[in-house]
Amino acid sequence: MAGLRILGINAHPHDFTHYAGTLGIHVADGDTVTVVSMTGGASTHNQKLSEEMAKPRQNRDQKLIDQINRDYTKQKADELATACNIFGITDVRILPYADKLFTLEKNPGAVDALREIILEVRPHIMITQSPYLTGRRGHKLGARDDHSETGFASIEAAFLAAIPRYEDSLPIYKIPATFFPGVYFERDEWDFVVDITDYFEQRVQAEATYISQGHTPEFAQKRMEVTLGNAGWFSGTQYAEAFVQEKPFRMPKIILPDSLLSEAEETEAARHHRLVGSEGK
Ligand SMILES: [Zn+2]
Repeated sequence: MAGLRILGINAHPHDFTHYAGTLGIHVADGDTVTVVSMTGGASTHNQKLSEEMAKPRQNRDQKLIDQINRDYTKQKADELATACNIFGITDVRILPYADKLFTLEKNPGAVDALREIILEVRPHIMITQSPYLTGRRGHKLGARDDHSETGFASIEAAFLAAIPRYEDSLPIYKIPATFFPGVYFERDEWDFVVDITDYFEQRVQAEATYISQGHTPEFAQKRMEVTLGNAGWFSGTQYAEAFVQEKPFRMPKIILPDSLLSEAEETEAARHHRLVGSEGK
């Protein structure tokens, strides 16, 4: 089979990083990756804007506010392109919706915009935001936010992409598999993890790219060690990214990865070496 086509749909420019190592592995394998951000993220972590907006209305400088927003949106777009480039991803798209709050009610065209992208890209895999609001599955915010709304929009778009419309120029399409990044779930809810140990440095580099969000090299290093290291530790490797499946696949039979089989008769010492990335038998 020719390479897989993967479509990542995100609320903000930073969100794709939660599975960027996995995307990097697929790009290196010859697969095609498209990254979409529903918003430019202009109102997220925008310190200068917060300072100006904290002033009484008559003391605010509207020209400065407009300039801050233009600069910040440009900076975010540059950061996203730079971070994607670290993983060899060149098809990067930012849709023109405003964040905080991005909702389907405010942006009724968003579902159709995503449907268009799905019909064009024809992804084998869609990775999108968790659509679960509360409880064991999903964000603990207990309220709708940009992420869950993006999850709703993309799942609705995927559903509608499989239904024909008279005005369609492209044939309908049904996405075979949809996943959500594991960062939005509890560890025992994960369906699988991808070993991204070889992409750890790239993940740190990508995290440090988001200067607009106050990320320093030290912050990036620490965050990746703790989060990717946690997923890795509990899945038997140094660094990993977790995923949750939208629904179970139909499989031809039970398939186990070679990496798992090779651990069947591994010694305790070898396992420890694998966890810390050192040589040894
Ligand atoms: Zn986000």
